[in-house]
Amino acid sequence: MKALAKTRRAPGFDLIEAPVPTVGAGEVLVRVRFSSICGSDVHLYKWEAWMAAHLKEVPRIVGHEAAGEVVAVGDGVTNVQVGDFVALETHLVCGNCYQCRTGRGHVCRNLKILGFDADGTFAEFVKVPAQNCIKVPDSIPRHWVSLMEPMGNAADTVLAEPIAGQRLAVLGCGPIGLMGIAIAKACGASLVIASEPNPLRRELAKRMGADIVVNPLEQNLTEIVRNETDGDGVDAVAEMSGHPVAFQQAIDIVTAGGWVAWLGLFNEPVTFNPTDAIVKAIRIHAITGRKLFSTWELVTRLLATGKVDLEPLISHRLPLERFDDGFQSVLQGQAVKVLFSLP
Ligand code: NAD
Ligand code: ZN
Repeated sequence: MKALAKTRRAPGFDLIEAPVPTVGAGEVLVRVRFSSICGSDVHLYKWEAWMAAHLKEVPRIVGHEAAGEVVAVGDGVTNVQVGDFVALETHLVCGNCYQCRTGRGHVCRNLKILGFDADGTFAEFVKVPAQNCIKVPDSIPRHWVSLMEPMGNAADTVLAEPIAGQRLAVLGCGPIGLMGIAIAKACGASLVIASEPNPLRRELAKRMGADIVVNPLEQNLTEIVRNETDGDGVDAVAEMSGHPVAFQQAIDIVTAGGWVAWLGLFNEPVTFNPTDAIVKAIRIHAITGRKLFSTWELVTRLLATGKVDLEPLISHRLPLERFDDGFQSVLQGQAVKVLFSLP
């Protein structure tokens, strides 16, 4: 089969021929139809230090956001059957550790990540544990299905506490922030203020339902939030940029007694004084991954009922052979979601 892999400990990926995986007991073979680029694939493509230090094996087939058809199942698989169209949960969990046994599989102690610790989805076929397959109803457009995985990150962030009637700020409108805006509006947020330096993404923030869109490089976010909330500050902030300036802004613009959810990952330590958060009695939620599998149920409902439209986010649809074009457009800030379509 055709696959995109990290073949050398250096920047870039290579298109390779690889054997189709064989499935064992409890495993499923999926023919990948769509697989989208995630920010972490870009870090791996650029070969950043953290990735270089943690990627154990090369060659490694990369990619993890994916959708496709079940084409073979191993012994004992009962949750899906051949022909089902599925999304994939990308966290491979052990099921036996303290976290897994206590309903916190998203922070499994023996966590492995598809496309990083195991061969991934930028390939014609991928093998996954059966429980990682999420059957998707026909009412969800097939080419949206690989976006359900990052949409789960967005959902867990903006819904870290009840959002109905609340005023929310979304800091960072990458694909995940943009999905967060739409989810918050669908779930009844009364006001969404989005902050994003990239003009293309600011435009999309409007399309996804943000009421106010701010360029934090040219406008005073704190002042705008104050004016738009009668001086209160927002009830909630979703930090989805991973930028140190936004990190501090989150603490500054949230109302006393409100909450902040952190999703953005930071390349370096951020300096902040916890007293700023303590005196305001802010509740902080640190978000990782998606809940297994309640988040998937939620995301499925939001899409199947037409509450959230993902179409505006798909900026590129490319064959796998044009992977360099896909990664380069992300690196140049011209892309939002790049989708590889496989025949
Ligand atoms: P992304 O990099 O595409 O989006 C981040 C956005 O923040 C960009 O559009 C950027 O222009 C914007 N930004 C930069 N500086 C800003 C500032 N000062 N104020 C406001 N916005 C600013 O990333 P993404 O794929 O949308 O993911 C969002 C974040 O979530 C990333 O940091 C990513 O690493 C992280 N993430 C975390 C998890 C998790 O499990 N915790 C999972 C996936 C992604
Ligand atoms: Zn575990």
